[in-house]
Amino acid sequence: KKFVYDFTEGNKDLKDLLGGKGANLAEMTNLGLPVPPGFTITTEACKTYLASGAEPPELRDEVSAHLEALERRMGKKLGQADDPLLVSVRSGAKFSMPGMMDTVLNIGLSDGSVEGLAAQADNPRFAWDSYRRLIQMFGKTVLGVDGELFEDALDEAKKAKGAESDVDLDADDLKKLVEQFKGIVADVTGREFPQDPREQMDLAVRAVFDSWNTERAKLYRRQERIPGDLGTAVNVCSMVFGNLGQDSGTGVAFTRDPASGHQGVYGDYLQNAQGEDVVAGIRNTVPLAELENYDKASYDQLMQIMETLETHYKDLCDIEFTIERGKLWMLQTRVGKRTAAAAFRIATQLVDQGLIDEAEALQRVNGAQLAQLMFPRFDEKAGGRKIATGIAASPGAAVGKVVFDSYTAVKWSRSGEKVILVRRETNPDDLNGMIAAEGILTSRGGKTSHAAVVARGMGKTCVCGAEELEVDTKRRCMTAPGGIVVEEGDVVSIDGSSGKIFLGEVPVVPSPVVEYFEGRTAPEDGDDLVRSVHRMMTYADGVRSLRVRANADSAEDAARARRFGAQGIGLCRTEHMFLGERREQVERLILADDDAEREAALAALLPVQKKDFTELFEAMDGLPVTVRLLDPPLHEFLPDITELSVRVALAEARKEPQENDLRLLQAVHRLHEQNPMLGLRGVRLGLVIPGLFAMQVRAIAEAAAERRAAGGDPKAEIMIPLVGTVQELEIVREEVEQVVADVARAAGTDLDLAIGTMIELPRAALTAGQIAEAAEFFSFGTNDLTQTTWGFSRDDVEASFFTAYLEKGIFGVSPFETIDRDGVGSLVRSAVEAGRRTRPGIKLGVCGEHGGDPESVHFFHEVGLDYVSCSPFRIPVARLEAGRAAA
Ligand code: ADP
Ligand code: MG
Ligand code: MG
Repeated sequence: KKFVYDFTEGNKDLKDLLGGKGANLAEMTNLGLPVPPGFTITTEACKTYLASGAEPPELRDEVSAHLEALERRMGKKLGQADDPLLVSVRSGAKFSMPGMMDTVLNIGLSDGSVEGLAAQADNPRFAWDSYRRLIQMFGKTVLGVDGELFEDALDEAKKAKGAESDVDLDADDLKKLVEQFKGIVADVTGREFPQDPREQMDLAVRAVFDSWNTERAKLYRRQERIPGDLGTAVNVCSMVFGNLGQDSGTGVAFTRDPASGHQGVYGDYLQNAQGEDVVAGIRNTVPLAELENYDKASYDQLMQIMETLETHYKDLCDIEFTIERGKLWMLQTRVGKRTAAAAFRIATQLVDQGLIDEAEALQRVNGAQLAQLMFPRFDEKAGGRKIATGIAASPGAAVGKVVFDSYTAVKWSRSGEKVILVRRETNPDDLNGMIAAEGILTSRGGKTSHAAVVARGMGKTCVCGAEELEVDTKRRCMTAPGGIVVEEGDVVSIDGSSGKIFLGEVPVVPSPVVEYFEGRTAPEDGDDLVRSVHRMMTYADGVRSLRVRANADSAEDAARARRFGAQGIGLCRTEHMFLGERREQVERLILADDDAEREAALAALLPVQKKDFTELFEAMDGLPVTVRLLDPPLHEFLPDITELSVRVALAEARKEPQENDLRLLQAVHRLHEQNPMLGLRGVRLGLVIPGLFAMQVRAIAEAAAERRAAGGDPKAEIMIPLVGTVQELEIVREEVEQVVADVARAAGTDLDLAIGTMIELPRAALTAGQIAEAAEFFSFGTNDLTQTTWGFSRDDVEASFFTAYLEKGIFGVSPFETIDRDGVGSLVRSAVEAGRRTRPGIKLGVCGEHGGDPESVHFFHEVGLDYVSCSPFRIPVARLEAGRAAA
């Protein structure tokens, strides 16, 4: 096995082996772009090290061979006293984990070679600056010295000198600082800062391996669902120097705006600085466009390179570059993270530019992004009190109480508060707080700062670089222009699309994308975002094979669902039709002692049910409407046992017992179940309560007949819940057919209502072949199927032990959120096959929550369902994902 690849040997498709950074450095090298030479140690080497605690034995020689080749090429040796070759040792995993792992620059400097470097560059200040950076970075990341010790020393030095920033320190100051830094290292670690360059390099490589498993890296991976066993590659890259003076510098750039997706020049640049300075927000950067004034030749070359990269990667790229005395060097590129709005705009732009086709465009966006675009926005006209404006880094409208540290953010959010995390700038240690917060606000840093990059990745609202704000984390307050002081706990509203910050809570309005789905904005009247969304939806609808239905049980929901693109109703629950004023009739039904009383109660319920259905069929005219007969246990319709007991006891104490309450209480006791989820519900109700299902079916059938008579086109489907065996279904089916035939005869029409069942018990799935004999359709009730397959009671487990399960990695995501492919999914798959074997034309759908979950939609496409059904607001998401699955 080969553990080390020269940059000339790799390419962008080797991310598994070389990590994203290494693969793309190789790709740029092979494109002929100016990349400082170097080599990459593979993730395989890292995995071996992490598993066994030692590098693979071959690694040392391979590294030596590559290092020698590099030295020959550069004409100098690593750490050579009179003219040292310096390298960076950089982490880089398959998936980008911004700032989560370590990188050490200027490896190869020592007490001897720092003088050589000073002489070569004719710039002692630069040499000492590089050396103090090495000791600082190496000390912190490799030797585990608390970084603040160095920072405090640096601050002291600046203060002593009256210097504003580190560039004001001269060679002598830095030389003294180096001595101090070395002292810190010796004090804390008990040994001297290593002077041997190869030892420095080897230790740094090992530290990068180790940084895969830091707590913050693990947390980030859990959050981003990155597998924990990939390991990181290590890139050894010859140094180029942006800190050689004003004709040098370093920057980051995007080939388009990652916030909006618009084309233009986006990035930050910092003169006389080394890499990390830009993202750390140590000094204030200038917009990239300024570079044209400093160094036109490099600027033009950079623009050229960015165009080359975009055309090559056919996507938005972000890059890191450094200019060393007027010579441009590329240090990194990757396909860049972007906001939801940018993703949609860029995908359609790239289609228009002829770089990608429509199927590819669909892969560039996803349902989660679309869902984000459907969030409400702040109401511009509501006139909130604006206290400052920062940089719009990650869109969204977030309202919450201000907190100034991660710990408080987590604590308050656990107790149910919505919080906005406010920092001068964030660093990887703030990750917990960023996850807990509704939004993130910083007073320093640009669109490429840590806060901005991480927030965009998480889809979280972020305003950064609000420099008008004076953030004082020690005194827990911030001051806005005009002396407005915002204390911890005060409410602010931040707008990640405009960068505006408001005091107090600002009301929100629907997003333009929702206005479009609602049909209130025609696509051609919308802005470019609405038009992009419209185009992507059109592509998706054009290719998808899954139909999308809605879970809706009122005419109003049905109408909205239809506007959102629903092709029918996959689940109309009838239980809500038993609540409200109708409860009294339901109580009467439950309490009925004899047939007459029960029939009277049912007769009273019939007309109201019928009215519900008529309205629903009208709203969904011409499209299928699946009505589920009553499912929940009856006690859900009775008063709470404790309340009722108290009422009865009080009445008895007053010696005026209420007859009805007494009967109710008896019923409540009789119907009480230890485990209602597995009790008298679903088809079992239909089998033991005479007339109940018949009444519901009559209401459905009569409503359908009425609509038909009125010239409508109702397409009702009757669905029997919680069937476990075909016998249950057969008995109910016979009764249902009887009622439908009666109604049809009386109305003088023929009603061909489909009769089918839910598959929501493992036994039903396992005997689906038999059940299909009596069912014209299956609808997978994946909520119950997940509960019964895992033996989890959803309402109980999510609060009690799911967090522990997620933390222990037993599952990466709740099986109630995304379908468990291996378990529940395999039941679905085999039931689909068995059902089709028995009845080739059987209609198959899903109506659990999973119907609107992006990953699950892909699974349902794979197993060949006919439709998914989800709540009205998820319909656009399901349409898009169904299209992506098919494209
Ligand atoms: P990260 O993954 O956190 O961005 P990098 O490995 O990219 O870490 O390095 C951190 C910073 O150092 C970046 O700004 C990068 O451009 C800069 N850098 C890395 N290697 C070199 C090098 N050989 N010469 C100059 N700057 C470098
Ligand atoms: Mg980088
Ligand atoms: Mg169910």
